[in-house]
Amino acid sequence: MENRIIGNTALVSFLNKLVDADKMPTAVLLAGPAMVGKATILESIAKRIICTERTVCGKCAGCLVGVGNHPDVLRLGPSEEESLRKGISNLLKRIYQKPVLGNKLIVFLENIDEFHWASSPLLLKVLEDAPTFVIFFLTAENLDAVLPTIRSRSMVRLVSPIDQKTFKEELSQRFAVGEMHELPQAGEVSPSSQTGVNGVDLIDQIVSLAGGRPGLALRLFGDSELREKYKSWRANLSNMSDKTIGERSQFAETIEKAGDGKEVINLLQSLLRDRVAEVAMTEKEHIANSKNFFGTIRRSREATAMFKANIPQRLVLEYVFFNQ
Ligand SMILES: [Zn+2]
Repeated sequence: MENRIIGNTALVSFLNKLVDADKMPTAVLLAGPAMVGKATILESIAKRIICTERTVCGKCAGCLVGVGNHPDVLRLGPSEEESLRKGISNLLKRIYQKPVLGNKLIVFLENIDEFHWASSPLLLKVLEDAPTFVIFFLTAENLDAVLPTIRSRSMVRLVSPIDQKTFKEELSQRFAVGEMHELPQAGEVSPSSQTGVNGVDLIDQIVSLAGGRPGLALRLFGDSELREKYKSWRANLSNMSDKTIGERSQFAETIEKAGDGKEVINLLQSLLRDRVAEVAMTEKEHIANSKNFFGTIRRSREATAMFKANIPQRLVLEYVFFNQ
C-alpha cells in the first residue's frame, strides 16, 4: 500500500511550493513525536525533487529508480559513535561530488536528536560546507536535544499528531475493507478476522491507541499482538496513580526486559497530549490540577534524554512511574 500522507496539509503544501519554486533551503528539520509522519513527508518531497518534471511523473529516470535506490539520495541515521563518525566523514567527501542523475543531492539525517554529541561538530561542518546543490532533510523527536547551532542552520517545522476526528475519517477511508489485506505484516488473515472485531471497532481502537500518529496506526493495523501490548500499556499507564510502588516497579521491569521503554514513554507522552487537548476542549480544570500532571509531562520528556544517555530503562521508567 502506498504510504500516503495524513494531516499536516499546510506544511506539506508549503514544502511542495518550495520545490516548485526551486527554493528549498539547504536544511529542513521536521520535529515531532515518533511515527507521526516526519520521514514520510520528507520522502514525498524527495520524490518530487528527484523527478526531472518535479511531479513524480513515474516515467523519468529519477522516478524509475525511486528514492530508495537513487544515487543522489543519501541516508545516515543514529548509530554507534565510531560508525557514525565514519558515516559523517564519508558524507563530507560525498557531498562535493555532483549529483549523478538529477541536479540535487538529498541527504536524509533521521533522528538527529539521537546522534552522539561527539559527532555534532562534524555534522555542523557538513551543514556549513555543503555546496548549493545539497539539501539536508533532518528529523528529530525532541527539538530540545538538537544542538542550537544545527537548529539555527535549518528551517525548522513541527509535524503535529492528527486530531482524533480527522484521523478517524482518514483511516476509515484508507482502510475500507478492500484495502485491509494489502497491509504490511497482515499475513493471510485480515486484521479484523484475527481478533473477531469488525472494521469500525478496529478503527476506533487504533485511533484511540495511536495518539494521532499515522505510522503507529499502520503498524497497529497489521499486528494484533502489538495492539494487545499497547492496550495493556495504556491500561497500566492510565491507572498508575492507583498502583502500589511494587506494582509500578514490576511494570517497569517487564518493560525493560522486553526493551520497550522508549515506545512506552512515547505512548505516555501521547496519552498526556490527549489529556491536554481534552482539558482545552472541555475546560475541565481539575484534570490539569491533578498535582503531578505537569510533572509527569516534564519527566516523560526527561526520560527520552535519559535513554539517550544509556541510563538503564528500568531506572528511567521508575523515575517516571513512581512520581506519577
Ligand atoms: Zn519523474
